[in-house]
Amino acid sequence: MLVKKYTCPTCGGNKVDEITTGYVYCDYCSSLVNYDLEKMLSEAEKSFSSEQQNEIKQKYYKKLQELSNYIQSEDTDNFVKTQCEIHALEFELFPKRFSPKIKQATFRQKLLEYFESFWYEKMENGYFAKNNETQKLFSELSSKVTFGFKNGKSVPKYDEHFEKYIEEMSSFLKISIEETLNMTSIKKYPEPITSTSKDVMYKQSFNMTIQMYDTDTIHKLIEKFGLKTEYIEVSNLQQTKTKCFVCNHEISIPEGAKKKVCENCGTTNDIENQKVQCYACGASFSIAESFVCTYCGSKVQVLGKKTKKDEVVKETSKKKQEEQKIDTSKNNKKGFFQKLFN
Ligand SMILES: [Zn+2]
Ligand SMILES: [Zn+2]
Ligand SMILES: [Zn+2]
Repeated sequence: MLVKKYTCPTCGGNKVDEITTGYVYCDYCSSLVNYDLEKMLSEAEKSFSSEQQNEIKQKYYKKLQELSNYIQSEDTDNFVKTQCEIHALEFELFPKRFSPKIKQATFRQKLLEYFESFWYEKMENGYFAKNNETQKLFSELSSKVTFGFKNGKSVPKYDEHFEKYIEEMSSFLKISIEETLNMTSIKKYPEPITSTSKDVMYKQSFNMTIQMYDTDTIHKLIEKFGLKTEYIEVSNLQQTKTKCFVCNHEISIPEGAKKKVCENCGTTNDIENQKVQCYACGASFSIAESFVCTYCGSKVQVLGKKTKKDEVVKETSKKKQEEQKIDTSKNNKKGFFQKLFN
């Protein structure tokens, strides 16, 4: 079987299953292995074509406009709030850009909480002034590029000016990611930071930089920046079919696999122990009785989907929810995130 060469730095296994988002999770141990840039091509194609105009997209563009106003007025709180709302809209508009785990309410909330601390930390470090400088530099570079427009996509003239612009952008991304990994807020990032994190973050940011261009340009850039993935042959692969503990979606388990992320609902299935991994505390717990983590009380909930155990969850977590309600009134930040989800 011919598969993309995505070798896990944690266990050495190579990805064998189909990848549905940019995030490549190891089929053997569920570690984040890589980011598949090519995966987002089809999504970018649809998202930016002029035919697809919907409510979320309109809201998204409105928020982007608001954001640039808050940059102008240097309004920190509204800037951070709007930035987080934009991220939440991006989860809906560009789901393939993110981990399948964003379908899990707890993971999504943790990711948004991370974004909030990340942006506040950026503010403390003089973001508005730095952003001004960066914008100036990049508008100067892009002013030398000739851009066309076709089917809602930007078609740049692929010459030395365009290459220079993207090269500068790429080095800027690398520096920013280095900074991000050194920030205090990274502790809140809901995925473990490993040797692959830098590469994954770079590819994800690079994706966002190039996705508005036409497919031809994107392919050229992927080639030029050495981001094309090789293929390798995997033989004697023994796989068993099982069902995700949470959503019942069929998943393939290669022999020797311990943990597997369900691409359908984002659950980390702890195959070895027949449990699921909690995204709030990281512990594995059995969901035979209920979908509530026995260690931290956090609920396993797939956004936009009803699970067969929803009723059980309601009963068990009623008390927990009451407690959270009291908590929320004391804590404005939680209230803000609840507003985001309602
Ligand atoms: Zn692995
Ligand atoms: Zn699932
Ligand atoms: Zn937990």
